[in-house]
Amino acid sequence: MNKEIWTVGRILQWTEQYFRSKEMDSPRLDGEVLLSHILGKDRIYLYTHYDQPLVQEELDAFRPLVQERAKGRSVASIIGEKDFMGLTFKVNEHVLIPRPDTETLVEYVLDTLPKDFSGRILDVCSGPGTILLSLLHYLPQASGMGLELSIQALQVAEQNRNQLQLAERSIFKHSDMFKAIEHSGESFDVIVSNPPYITSADMRILAPEVLAEPHMALEGGADGLDFYRILVANSGQYLVPGGILAMEIGIHQGDDVRQLLEATGQFHEIQYCKDLAGINRVIVAKRM
Ligand code: GLN
Repeated sequence: MNKEIWTVGRILQWTEQYFRSKEMDSPRLDGEVLLSHILGKDRIYLYTHYDQPLVQEELDAFRPLVQERAKGRSVASIIGEKDFMGLTFKVNEHVLIPRPDTETLVEYVLDTLPKDFSGRILDVCSGPGTILLSLLHYLPQASGMGLELSIQALQVAEQNRNQLQLAERSIFKHSDMFKAIEHSGESFDVIVSNPPYITSADMRILAPEVLAEPHMALEGGADGLDFYRILVANSGQYLVPGGILAMEIGIHQGDDVRQLLEATGQFHEIQYCKDLAGINRVIVAKRM
């Protein structure tokens, strides 16, 4: 970069063009998120300080982040944070980066429950805690538990529950699916899950950005349904009558997961919710 003055606006334009030349999906947004991270401000600040010159330290800090992004690393993993449901979650290489698609699941549950819901929510495969903690944030009288196999992911969830001041209403346990609560007599009003659901064959064609995420959070076996089988077979015993099971699903999995649910004879009122792209992204069912 030459001796001309690099203002906030000018560096954003330069970065956008650079990312665009690399055919990246959201060149403007990525530049804004990286720059606001370096400046320690939110994105609005960039627009209220568009003509502000950047100091050399800021430029030196920004440049390597731009290079990392251009190499294909996700913005969330570079800055260690991702916004979801209006909240900021810590993330790292040990967790799945929260997807906007998953907001469909959280929004469905929030729409279904009364605002003063004071029941218990179970999140199976809770990862960094995104689903459970965002539900608890918007349901101030609810409490819940997350079950997660990865110790590293549990550590991230612990940070998130403290940062979001939800430590009193949430607990995370190390568990292979339901194992840690077997024979415990625990019961819940709602069970949510975004399990690994990509088929082993599709794992080979994932974008490099996604492949950088933990495979154990993504791969759902030969037909992608391994974890739904466990979720569907076990949720009935932990849900109260009338309780809700809501699971994120992959693009072609709706019929198969519906059949699994129907075969138990324990669920009814099975329905789908669409994501922003119009794809059935969530399946919900009620415990009889
Ligand atoms: N939706 C994610 C993806 O396509 C997969 C999430 C999952 O396996 N639970 O990358």
